Amino acid sequence: MEVTYAECSHCGTISPQDRWTTGNPQACPECQSSRDSIPWPPAELSELAALVLAFDQKSAHYSPVTCVFTSSLLESLLEHQVYMMAMMDMDYNDAGLLADLLLESYQGRTRLIHLYKRVGYSSLADDASHAGCPRFPADWDQIANARNDVIHGKPEAAKAITPDLIRRAVSDAFTVFSYVHNAYNIESHRYKSATPNTRVSDEGKKRLAKWSQSASLDSEETHDGGA
Ligand SMILES: [Zn+2]
Repeated sequence: MEVTYAECSHCGTISPQDRWTTGNPQACPECQSSRDSIPWPPAELSELAALVLAFDQKSAHYSPVTCVFTSSLLESLLEHQVYMMAMMDMDYNDAGLLADLLLESYQGRTRLIHLYKRVGYSSLADDASHAGCPRFPADWDQIANARNDVIHGKPEAAKAITPDLIRRAVSDAFTVFSYVHNAYNIESHRYKSATPNTRVSDEGKKRLAKWSQSASLDSEETHDGGA
């Protein structure tokens, strides 16, 4: 899988690299700005993806190793996205500490997926379908369950994890999370242009305060099940 993405420094849209115009500098397919672009996902995550995709498929350790690393990758992508959604329309100085606390109390895949629905407009499963990847949630469940077995000392339980599944999950994750990033980014832009003088909406502050209160209640749920 060789698809790489870049985030436009001007409008914040993430587009596959092959949609940027050729030439130097390249122009964003969304806003046509030729300002700098930032590679997406962040380097540590694209390196993790490259490591997983290049892992020796003939290795006896293929399934246990790739399910653990792929789980880390997908969870990090989700965490980045939820953070962006929680911070939407808000300034780090005003809301950053609260958002940090919120994410700290929602660690783990199941809680993050729960938080995603709470801070966003719909569930991750629905958004994955809209992004054209309806199998992604089930694929991720399978990988996450295998990962849980592996870290609890049952590596043989991961043998259903195949290179096809790993490749599809990584590719779908990039498709889904770039799609969702762009959806919320556009929403954020619309909001900002509608309220040019307001850095942080009162409504936004209220929402964040409410989430952080309920986060402590949600911390009681500790199981890691499906989406
Ligand atoms: Zn742009």
